[in-house]
Order: sequence, then C-alpha cells, then structure tokens
Amino acid sequence: MDIISVMDDSLSNKIAAGEVVERPASIVKELVENSIDADSTSIEIALEEAGLTSIRVTDNGKGMSRRDAVLSFERHATSKISNEHDLFRIRTLGFRGEALASIASVSKVSLFTSDGETEGTEVQLDGGVVVKQSTAAFRKGTDMTVSHLFYNTPARLKYMKTIQTELGHTIDLVNRIALSHPHIAFKLSHHSQTILHTSGSGDRRKVLTDIYGMAVARKMVPFTGENADFKVDGYVTLPEMTRASRNYMTLIVNGRWVKSYAANQAVLDGLHTYLPIGRFPIAVINVETDPFLTDVNVHPSKQHIRLSKEGELFDLIKSSVRDAVKRSIIVPDAVKRE
Ligand code: ADP
Ligand code: MG
Repeated sequence: MDIISVMDDSLSNKIAAGEVVERPASIVKELVENSIDADSTSIEIALEEAGLTSIRVTDNGKGMSRRDAVLSFERHATSKISNEHDLFRIRTLGFRGEALASIASVSKVSLFTSDGETEGTEVQLDGGVVVKQSTAAFRKGTDMTVSHLFYNTPARLKYMKTIQTELGHTIDLVNRIALSHPHIAFKLSHHSQTILHTSGSGDRRKVLTDIYGMAVARKMVPFTGENADFKVDGYVTLPEMTRASRNYMTLIVNGRWVKSYAANQAVLDGLHTYLPIGRFPIAVINVETDPFLTDVNVHPSKQHIRLSKEGELFDLIKSSVRDAVKRSIIVPDAVKRE
C-alpha cells in the first residue's frame, strides 16, 4: 500500500519555522539581516509587547519590485545565491530563502516596499496566505510588520517567557548586530520608548558607548592583529571593568555575529594573568577572512559557523589581546614575570 505523500508548503513552512522562529528575537534577527543584506544605511526596529504583539522593521535599503515582494514569502525564494558555487562564497547574511516563508507561516505580515524604479507595493499575509496585494505609494526601501506571532501555533506561544525576558533577548541581539555594523544607524524602540540609537558613523567604539555608556567604553583598549588568513580588530575592557558573566563578548566574522566559546576563551587566555578569577571582560572581536574559509551552512539560524584554520585564528586573537592590554596597563608583577 502506498502511504507516503509530499507535504504541502504550508505544513513544511511551519515545520521549518520551528527551527528558525524560536521567539520574537529570532524574527527581529531575520528581518534586520534582510535589511542589512539590502544595503540599508538606516534600520528601525519598533516592538510592541516585546514583539509578541508586533515587530516592525523599517529600512532604507534597495527594496523589492512588485513581483519579488510576493515571491519573497515563497520557500527557497532568494536573491542571494543562485548556484552551488555561490554556497561556498557567501558574503550575505541570508542565503537559504526560508526566513520570510517560515515567519509568515506562524504570524500575520504586512509589507510595504519599493525598489525606487516602479510603484510601491503592499502585501498582506495571514498564516503565510496572501490576503492582499496592491500598489501603494512608498519610497525606496522596505517596511515589514509581523504581528499575532504564533497565533496559529498555540503550543509555541505557550513557551514564550515574560515580556521582560523576550525583550532582553532582542536588546542583546540588536546590540550585537549594531556592533557588527557600525556603518548602519540602528534604532530600537519598545512602545515608542527608545532603547538603542546608533549613529551609523562607522566608529565601533561609538557604538560601544551607545550600548554600554561612556564609563565602560573609556575603559576599553583597541587591539589589532593579522596573519596570512585572518585580520582581527576589536576592543576589550581593562581588568578593572569586568563582568561576572561571559555573555559580554561578541565575535563577528565577516559582518555576522556568531557564537563561539573557543573565541571567547582565546580572549580570556590573552588577558590571562590580568583577569580576576570569575570575572570576564566586555569585548568585541571583529574578524575578516575569505568566505571560502567559513561554512555558515551549519544550522538554519546561522549562529554557529565552521572555520578552517580556527586554531590559527584563536592564537591570533589571544596574542592581539595580550599585546594590547599589556601595552596599556602597568602591572609591575605581571610585566616582570614575562
Ligand atoms: P534570504 O534572506 O535567505 O534570501 P528571506 O526569506 O529572508 O531569504 O528573504 C527572501 C528574499 O526577500 C531575499 O533574498 C530578498 O531578495 C528579499 N527581501 C527580504 N527582505 C528584504 C528587505 N528588507 N529589503 C529588500 N529585499 C528583501
Ligand atoms: Mg533572510
């Protein structure tokens, strides 16, 4: 008896959403990454109820044509890669063509967009089904609102934590994305109250000031390093300005914030004798490398990547941090021991 059937798109999108759309912060991540990939210089994120009621992302990027605006919600629809060769040379944050299809399948979406060449477009979807599609006056760029999150997947909705917890996740995410893209002006607000506002001046230390305040930013020393495959630059707090958690270290690889325990450990190894036990620095580590050495296709959320020659990178991070901190503090005992 034949019992196998190929599932329809609506079902497969909901299943994929289980991986990509974990909470409001995951939606913010996908929408903001799309805005960055669209070459935006200004991105605004406005949340209601920490995003559970609504998430609105407005950008001034290249926008979409009428056809693309509708097509963008199809599974595997992407403008970012077109063949297998591209898969090993990814320079964009997205490439899977799944995020919008997944997000739309578990929410209601309203989109205004224009590529500046043709008239603007408005598209509305309920649970992934297009319910409105019309021309609309809109300047070049994109304005997407995701509301009624998980309205059709109650089990997932039940898993949402308090507003404060969900908001915390989103603030943490936007802080790190803003640090990864100092040339883009970001504004994050919650119920019209501004939480973060960066200028887009390109100065990463300025973004650190916007996030952590002047007192912290002033206690950060810059470091740089380079070998045949990697270029590293960043900032790390001096030992007197530390935190009780490791969560204040941000690794950026080719503009993508990624999680790496080993890279954080390399920073700690670099600080070694200077760091009090149980204390951790605030740090941002920016790495540029040939995309060929990276594999970002590890998990749909792309928070973890594989790196060739990672041992060399960690050595470089460690020595760059150590040299910079050694130069800027005078700890007679530590210096004598060298
Ligand atoms: P991916 O980012 O992996 O390509 P998405 O589902 O996130 O997949 O988006 C699908 C496509 O929609 C993108 O490839 C892009 O062409 C278009 N798109 C989405 N958001 C924007 C935006 N803010 N500005 C311009 N184009 C966008
Ligand atoms: Mg995307």
